[in-house]
Amino acid sequence: MKTLKIGHLYPKLLNIYGDIGNIIALKKRCEWRGIEVIVDEINQVDSICEHDLYFMGGGQDLQQIEVSKDLQKHKEFLINERDRGAVFLGICGGYQLFGHYYQPREGEKLSGISLLDAYTVAGNKRFIGNVTVETNMVTPKTLVGFENHSGLTYLNGDTKPIGTVITGNGNNGADKTEGARYKNVFGTYLHGSFLPKNPQFADFLIELALGEKLPPLGDKTETLCHNSLVNKSY
Ligand code: GLN
Repeated sequence: MKTLKIGHLYPKLLNIYGDIGNIIALKKRCEWRGIEVIVDEINQVDSICEHDLYFMGGGQDLQQIEVSKDLQKHKEFLINERDRGAVFLGICGGYQLFGHYYQPREGEKLSGISLLDAYTVAGNKRFIGNVTVETNMVTPKTLVGFENHSGLTYLNGDTKPIGTVITGNGNNGADKTEGARYKNVFGTYLHGSFLPKNPQFADFLIELALGEKLPPLGDKTETLCHNSLVNKSY
């Protein structure tokens, strides 16, 4: 039996808006296919072992300060994990710390770990609401969720968006980009949770992590949920 090893980064600090639902979706979509899943909760530890997929959820500025400091000791290891092809998914605050830095409205700049060539600065308003994104990465080509962030994220170099904002604000409310990808590192502002509402993206990440195609699941309920949210603005 295949096994998927997931490293859940800082679940005690970064799990705002039920982002744990992404771990649950990955776990169930593997188990429904007879794939064993091991989830390691990685909070403030001295060292991390290799995993197929790493997940980091969202959080408020206060929790991000703690995570930013602790993450620095794992920066080199996680960059090596990225370069050997491990999959990463960061949601909102977790996404921001996958970049070079996050500058909150007040206080010091928070260092990220530069898995993505991106940076974030807090804006003057909070983006809150439903988001619909059009993407070429998966089929169906829509991604849905909700956003709640003041951070404005900008991408550089080979770090490209995961899609174009149809409804909502996305990375910064100006350039119509949402999320980011470099190698197998993905970030998005979509809470929801993101993967239960976008099962095609969950399977995309699992296939990348396992290095093999998955047999389809029915997804009737998930598809009804997804389609009910496409272009929903509030
Ligand atoms: N604290 C960050 C911001 O406000 C991230 C918020 C979040 O993770 N939802 O932009």
